[in-house]
Amino acid sequence: MDDLSRQLFEKACALIPGGVNSPVRACHNVDSLPLFIAEAHGCRLTDVDGREYIDFVLSWGPMILGHDEASVTAALREAAGRGTSYGAPCPDEVALAAEVVAAMPGLEMVRMVNSGTEATMSALRLARGVTKRHKLLKFIGCYHGHADPFLAAAGSGVATFSLPGTPGVPPAVVADTLLAPYNDLDAVKECFARHGADIAAVIVEPVAANMGLVLPKPGFLEGLRALADQYGSLLIFDEVITGFRAAFGGAQARFNIDPDLTTFGKIIGGGLPVGAFGGKRRFMEHVAPQGEVYQAGTLSGNPLAMAAGLATLRRLKTLDYDALEARTRAFAEALRDILRAKGVPVQMPTLASMFCPFFSEEPVTDFVQAQACDQKLFTSFYKQMRAQGIYLAPSGFETGMVSFAHSDEDFNRALDAARKVLF
Ligand code: PMP
Repeated sequence: MDDLSRQLFEKACALIPGGVNSPVRACHNVDSLPLFIAEAHGCRLTDVDGREYIDFVLSWGPMILGHDEASVTAALREAAGRGTSYGAPCPDEVALAAEVVAAMPGLEMVRMVNSGTEATMSALRLARGVTKRHKLLKFIGCYHGHADPFLAAAGSGVATFSLPGTPGVPPAVVADTLLAPYNDLDAVKECFARHGADIAAVIVEPVAANMGLVLPKPGFLEGLRALADQYGSLLIFDEVITGFRAAFGGAQARFNIDPDLTTFGKIIGGGLPVGAFGGKRRFMEHVAPQGEVYQAGTLSGNPLAMAAGLATLRRLKTLDYDALEARTRAFAEALRDILRAKGVPVQMPTLASMFCPFFSEEPVTDFVQAQACDQKLFTSFYKQMRAQGIYLAPSGFETGMVSFAHSDEDFNRALDAARKVLF
């Protein structure tokens, strides 16, 4: 057996549940084995068997500059020479906080954490703490990390594996989680009419990117803002994916909506484990130690992570998001046309540097429609693309990602590979 990825996976399966440290990576839903990656530069991954791939996953979003971007790597090397963790404040966390607050219209203060999961979990606690209410409204197919209250009808890995939620979450913990279909403002109105006085927060991915890619219908986000105002609930934008991707100022800048709280992850850490939650000062000043709502982290504000995040945001500020969006759209439309010419039904929504092949006759506007897509066609497409060195997200419930490091030649190679796919 000369396939090192396979050997490593077999060894890993005896040591790590499912052989992976996060479920979707296992690739078994697309009838494949995970690739073990040896190194990554720009938009290219090299696996342990020396095979090269054009990366449209980008570590699920963080690597918008591409891998091993010069300024980020230099900042990390420099920071590593100054020690890796102090458990005390460092200058870069103030600098990163300033960049994030300046970029995001809805933010006046921010707290760094270590993952998107921590960010949403903490934002929910804060919303419950300040409103003194318990209920949470979330949307079916939106994923907000793996904290218990969000694991009801969630997207991403939970959707990929069709888990109804998960064992291990006591019914009481999700009893206060209300659900509505994405893009269905009438359902949200009804929910508020029944429970409004008890709803601490409505949390939404302003662009849903964990059930494939589902764009908000015009008026949907505005409607959420209005209803939250009407009932005194907080509007939480989960911008773990869309922050610094939907626009430099996130979906809140792109759609001109002013959320009360926002959660971040992925890009904000430049590829290191970082998340953050922030929002209006009148809410954020309730976070400990300024306020009474407890939240903490041994490695929060870690100097390496802050250096990577800071270098990433500073570089991103100089780059042309509109140009990347136009290139992504042109690529996605060409991909769609190639697949349609083969006679398969395909929808290809795009937004900013995200794209998503849905094998469906109809546009997808919610989770039920996302689930109705042809997963067999997706699996066949995925496997044939990967065999040709094109690395796509291994699930129909994830979104494709493009980086500033993708060249026209990379797009053309991916399109050439798609032309060779047989259904
Ligand atoms: N929210 C959203 C919108 C996400 O996409 C994710 C992760 N994909 C999370 C929260 C959780 O982030 P993490 O995996 O860093 O805990």
